[in-house]
Amino acid sequence: MPAGCDHCEKKAVYVDPVTKQRFCGEHFSAWFEAGVLAAIEKYHMIEPGDRIAVGLSGGKDSTVLLTVLAKLDLDAELIPITVDEGIGGYRDDTILAATRLCDKLGLADKLVSFTDICGKTLDELLANDPRQACSVCGTLRRRALNQAAREVGATKIATGHCLDDEAQSVLMNYLRGDLTRVTGSFQTNADTLFLPRIKPLCRSTERETVAYGLVNHLLTDLPECPYTKYALRAGVRKGLGKLEYKNPGTMMNIVTGQEKLLAKLGPREGEITKMGRCEICGEPTSHRLCAACALLERRA
Ligand SMILES: [Zn+2]
Ligand SMILES: [Zn+2]
Repeated sequence: MPAGCDHCEKKAVYVDPVTKQRFCGEHFSAWFEAGVLAAIEKYHMIEPGDRIAVGLSGGKDSTVLLTVLAKLDLDAELIPITVDEGIGGYRDDTILAATRLCDKLGLADKLVSFTDICGKTLDELLANDPRQACSVCGTLRRRALNQAAREVGATKIATGHCLDDEAQSVLMNYLRGDLTRVTGSFQTNADTLFLPRIKPLCRSTERETVAYGLVNHLLTDLPECPYTKYALRAGVRKGLGKLEYKNPGTMMNIVTGQEKLLAKLGPREGEITKMGRCEICGEPTSHRLCAACALLERRA
């Protein structure tokens, strides 16, 4: 680690691998927060008077997200929502961390559990088949977050997805041969039915996010979700992490490359899929049942 911060006399604690800029803790935090604000402004994520439901798992990304949003001078209300999936030996500690953070920031945390929405914990739903863990969990967590956000009258939902997650998702669409997603989604009337989702950390790397958490003493040693090892994402994450280490900026290139592709293709006019309502729960869907209800029916 080089001696000095590029912006003051203090010792540097972080070097940006792309620009080689050196930062002390204070200047790194200011740089990170400015980056988040720039992403919020570039993608018009927040409008004055918004009520933002913030998905707060208690893990590092969402902890940093809520802290930075609370610190930035945004004309918006923040409502943290914590989803308890029911994962033994993992969730209790992270929920405690989420509650503590909200106390510190003076915000009230809304808790919602898988048991509330479907009567079962994730552990019970998976029973003997942990390989589907991340897709089952993701589907039900989306449902839980949507439902809770509507209950508190939110206008948007913010999640802690960072640049790494975005780059992984782009690559995974290619790895699955999912051309529909690679070339952009079909036009739907979904925008009017779903609460808009925003990802204020989408241009911040996980490395930066963790560094921000460490510099600001936000992170405690938390267990990792026991199911992550079963996901395709785990392999993509590892490979992409190695590439990024050798060639800093790779993840940003993947994401901006995808943006350029979509801009070039333009909206898919004439292919409008009209969304209706799920027969069981009334959530928006283009099928008879929404993804969550279809999943619960298969696992009943
Ligand atoms: Zn400095
Ligand atoms: Zn449904």
